[in-house]
Amino acid sequence: MSELYFQSIAEHAAGLAAKKYSAVDLTKAVIARTKAVEGRVQAFNSFDEADALAQAAESDARRAAGQARGALDGIPIGLKDVIAVTGQPLTASSKMLANFVSPYDGTVTVKLKQAGAVLWGRLNCDEFAMGSSTENSAFHPTGNPWDPTRVPGGSSGGSAAALAAGEATATLGSDTGGSIRQPAAFCGVVGLKPTYGLVSRYGLIAFASSLDQIGPFARTVEDAAIVLGAIAGHDPLDSTSFKADVPDYRAELGARQGPWRLGIPKEYFGAGLDPEIGAAVEKAIAFYRAQGCEIKEVSLPHTQYCLDTYYIIATAEASSNLARYDGIRYGHRAKNAKDVVDLYFQSRAEGFGAEVKRRIILGTYVLSSGYYDAYYLRAQKVRTLIRQDFLNAYRDVDALLTPTSPIPAFKIGEKTDPLALYLCDIYTIGVNLAGLPGISVPCGFTKSGLPIGMQLIGQPFNEAGLLAIAQAYEKAHEWSARHPNL
Ligand code: GLN
Repeated sequence: MSELYFQSIAEHAAGLAAKKYSAVDLTKAVIARTKAVEGRVQAFNSFDEADALAQAAESDARRAAGQARGALDGIPIGLKDVIAVTGQPLTASSKMLANFVSPYDGTVTVKLKQAGAVLWGRLNCDEFAMGSSTENSAFHPTGNPWDPTRVPGGSSGGSAAALAAGEATATLGSDTGGSIRQPAAFCGVVGLKPTYGLVSRYGLIAFASSLDQIGPFARTVEDAAIVLGAIAGHDPLDSTSFKADVPDYRAELGARQGPWRLGIPKEYFGAGLDPEIGAAVEKAIAFYRAQGCEIKEVSLPHTQYCLDTYYIIATAEASSNLARYDGIRYGHRAKNAKDVVDLYFQSRAEGFGAEVKRRIILGTYVLSSGYYDAYYLRAQKVRTLIRQDFLNAYRDVDALLTPTSPIPAFKIGEKTDPLALYLCDIYTIGVNLAGLPGISVPCGFTKSGLPIGMQLIGQPFNEAGLLAIAQAYEKAHEWSARHPNL
């Protein structure tokens, strides 16, 4: 039996139900592990041991009274530091919110609490979720548990690294252009970005509201199904949340069997794809073919416009969403301002980091009169074409299979040009522009021992089908049983 801190939710649900150990034992194991490795990983912005142990004790009391609430009761789950938890710091890894304590719970937080989860820690990320390496955090970089001199990916790098390192049993991240799937790939764990509208964004610090979705990082596809089942569903507090029935994703896993029709988008296998990643994904394709799946090459002809479209729409929305940080009601406030206008200028100049400023400037530009039609409006039209590409492909196939990232985890400090970082997103951002669900599943290692992820992209609101396809691969491979040697 592997250590408690490396076991899955499903294993713990059984272990806790059989009273082999308590939620307090499990939480203590995760806390001890965190203290042992956090010096090298630095996945957390903050954590509150006493609070986590109190939650675990409540879970044990419920269980003793015969009132255990299900698979998540007593499970330590970490949240990216952009998701609100009452009474806990909420920083978005920004100086702007360095001293902010959330006065309320986000909807996913409420749902996890209702499921009995032990909320454990605030996880590092790129500032306001803008980045692909977690190096844009105003506080500190996070190390990849497989090689702490390398990045864990981003923006939800702390969520991916904490899970891979055994510092939590599952975590939540947010994904605007790949921020769950890419770090999942870099850290060798499962990461699911749900269909836009499936999970409430209430209590998520907004980056680009038409693209943002919260989703789980998990050790296994089954665990991702368990967490998704707990956090999904309509929420009157989020006007973009969809009124769809939430199936029992875990139960559906067993009910859905292949073979499936899988599309391979030819635009996702071109120049820039690391050959070792390409070879690993080809092997995964061969696996599905051997299982009787129909493998079809498909085309998503507007793929070449995804990056430009994303960096217009995401920055436009960010410039609007971040206008609220003016130092007046909350957030960083400059000390020596001459007047109120100067206070805005200085507070924002001091509070935001370079990447956030770059995006606010770009977003303000594309929305300004005279440029709105040429950039923003045009990008919205191209976005419709990108979504249509995917929907056309789904006439012939059930899901698409691609690499998650063109490259494996790179060295901290290696990529200094913002454009080089933006290029990391080429396989993930189309999914956000089209509002689709996507999952990254471990699919091997490079020769130097770095994890590789493959991405499966599903049809809108068919997370159940997507998870089943992913699990078919996972069950036949032992990647998720491997853990980093920290
Ligand atoms: N890397 C992308 C960006 O910097 C995506 C980030 C995200 O999904 N939050 O915008």
